Amino acid sequence: MGSIVDKLKERNDPKPVLQGKIRPSDIPAGLFIACEKCHAAIHQKVLDENLRVCPHCQHHFRLSARERIAMTLDVDSFQEMDADLMSTNPLNMPEYADKLDKSRALTGNNEALISGLGTINAIRVAFAVLDPFFMMGSMGSVVGEKLARLVEIAIAKLLPLVIIAASGGARMQEGIYSLMQMAKTAAVIKRHSDAGLLFISIMTDPTTGGVAASFATLGDILLVEQGALIGFAGPRVIKQTIQQDLPEGFQTAEFQLLHGQIDLVVKRKQIRPLLTQLLLLHQQVLTRE
Ligand SMILES: [Zn+2]
Repeated sequence: MGSIVDKLKERNDPKPVLQGKIRPSDIPAGLFIACEKCHAAIHQKVLDENLRVCPHCQHHFRLSARERIAMTLDVDSFQEMDADLMSTNPLNMPEYADKLDKSRALTGNNEALISGLGTINAIRVAFAVLDPFFMMGSMGSVVGEKLARLVEIAIAKLLPLVIIAASGGARMQEGIYSLMQMAKTAAVIKRHSDAGLLFISIMTDPTTGGVAASFATLGDILLVEQGALIGFAGPRVIKQTIQQDLPEGFQTAEFQLLHGQIDLVVKRKQIRPLLTQLLLLHQQVLTRE
C-alpha cells in the first residue's frame, strides 16, 4: 500500500508519470508540460486531445478565446464581427496603451472579447467569448460595445445567444466607462429575453467583478466549468473587509451550485454536447408554440 504503483492505479493513469531522477533538461522542449495543479508531466498531445484538462487531477487549463471557438463551434462556421474595434485611452491612464499593445501581440486579437455568428451542430447561434490572456478578460468600452452589437444582431435575426466568460471584471483603466458597460450589456440582454430568445451563459475560470455582476449571470441557463472561481471581489479582499474566515470552498463552482447561484457545473468535454441538447430542446419548444 502507498507505493507509487498503487498511487498510479488509484489515479487510473494510462501511463506512468515521470518521477525522480529525470531532470527537466532531459525532457525535449515543448513535448511535455507540467500540470499547474498536481505538477505531473503531461504530454502536450495527450493534453490537447483531452481539451487541455489534466488527465491526472482534472485541472482545467485556461483557454484562449480562439481555442474556445475551436472547441465549441462547428469547424469553419464562425463569422467574426467587429474584429477591428479598438480601445482608446479615454482617461489617459499611464501604461494603458502599452498593456493593450502587449495583449494584442500575445493573443493576436484587438480586444478581450471576440464575437460573431456560428453554428453548434448545425444550430445557428450568436456567440461571444472572453479571452483571459487579454488583460485578464476585463471589460472596457469596446468589450461592452461588441457584446451589445452582437446581442442586437441576435434580436434582429431571432438567434439564441451563447457567451463564454472568463474575466477579472470591469477594466479599471477605463474607470466609469467600463462600469457603464454593465448597465449597457444588461439592458440589451433584457431586450433579447423579452423577445423570447434563449441565452446560455458559460462561466469559466475566473469570472468575477463587473462581468460576473452583469451579463455573465443574466443567462436563462447558467453553466460553470468545473473548478472555476466565480464571485465578485476576491476572497482575500472580502476576508480583510469583513474580518471573518470564509467558508470552505467559497466562490468555487461547486459552492455556487450548492447555494443556488448557478444551474450546473460542467466538465469541459460536456460543454458542446450539452449546448447542442439545450439548443435543440429550445428549438422544439419554439416550434410547438
Ligand atoms: Zn494535474
